[in-house]
Amino acid sequence: MIKANDPNRKSWVPVPEGSDFPIQNIPFGAFRTPRGEEVIGTRIGDTAIDLKAISRTGALAGTGVESNVFEEKNLNGFLKLNKKAWRAVRDRLAELFDEANKGEWAEALKDSLYPVDQIAMTMPVVVGDYTDFYSSRQHATNVGTMFRDPDNALLPNWLHIPVGYHGRASSIILSETPIHRPKGQQLPADADKPVFGPCKLLDFELEMAFITGQGKPLGDSITTAEAEDYIFGLALFNDWSARDIQKWEYVPLGPFLAKNFASSISPWIVTLDALDPFRIPGEKQEPEVLDYLKFEGNKTFDVNLKVSIENDAFKAHPICHSNFKYMYWNMAQQLAHHTVNGCNINAGDMLASGTISGNNPEEYGSMLELSWKGTKPLQMPDGSERKFIQDGDTVIMEGYCEKDGVRIGFGNVKTQVLPAK
Ligand code: CA
Repeated sequence: MIKANDPNRKSWVPVPEGSDFPIQNIPFGAFRTPRGEEVIGTRIGDTAIDLKAISRTGALAGTGVESNVFEEKNLNGFLKLNKKAWRAVRDRLAELFDEANKGEWAEALKDSLYPVDQIAMTMPVVVGDYTDFYSSRQHATNVGTMFRDPDNALLPNWLHIPVGYHGRASSIILSETPIHRPKGQQLPADADKPVFGPCKLLDFELEMAFITGQGKPLGDSITTAEAEDYIFGLALFNDWSARDIQKWEYVPLGPFLAKNFASSISPWIVTLDALDPFRIPGEKQEPEVLDYLKFEGNKTFDVNLKVSIENDAFKAHPICHSNFKYMYWNMAQQLAHHTVNGCNINAGDMLASGTISGNNPEEYGSMLELSWKGTKPLQMPDGSERKFIQDGDTVIMEGYCEKDGVRIGFGNVKTQVLPAK
């Protein structure tokens, strides 16, 4: 077993009941301390832990990781190491903050701790490249049904290829960063010429993204068996989408301005190690996949997901409950597919799942599906309706795993939509 995952471990740092961040989590992120210093860190309960300060006490020396990695403002240096180093640091942090070691460490480490409400989260990773998959069968089926042909909703390649496209890394933003409604070309219904203006059909996409370590040289491939060694961890991911812009522009080369104006991530990266107890078998893949996409073991993870809308007029109102387990293609297959042609990946790349929709309508991961192209508006607590996202709305995505009394959570990704500039 991964040492840091010991379900019996308790911390000398207080952990509120139901917290996403017990000592079994030990996620990684970056933040600005009350003194204005930008550091990388972790979190237990409602306490943020400064890894630069911890490293300077010498407490991480035994991990074999060079201390300069802990002096950086983001996780990229740490990501360039390997699974062994990531695990050694996480295991060591679990040990330092274990209740049993309070006498030895509480005094020495006290200056490394801050209440989370006194810090400001910063981007955990400088994202080099961003790829977005399309790996939920129900989502692909829903979209195919709405826009093409209900009898042939999945395109012929879908059950053979983890379909994806290269997105835009520069506009990946941190939770709590507001966005402005995008503008662009749209083709109104029954019009034969496009118009320009603010997007009218602004949507979220409920996704999760994994962050990679340093891959292999250009020309080499990562197998499904090796893939998890290159996956550092995951975050919640809201892949903002402008449906009217998308509809007009996406043929023949796929999404462009409808997608590249913003994608929001949750600030704490939960490691693949922390998610290990929550592995489950995935959906049976039929027809059989090509050899390079075959895999062994449970590569699917049971992560409960929720989306809510909040507004000045009402508190967070849940509109969707889904689960990461609804992915038809798992992350190992996605990474194997991504590199099978020799494409390289780098430390700090972000690979997103695509919208995660379950089979029931309340499990659909976008407004497009929840309101079925606007034909079934959702009722809000103040009596208003939503077909898509309005100015002033805040979209909140949450995620957690729970099993045998241990809850490992992601916190949330929360983004307010401001009017078009
Ligand atoms: Ca997407």
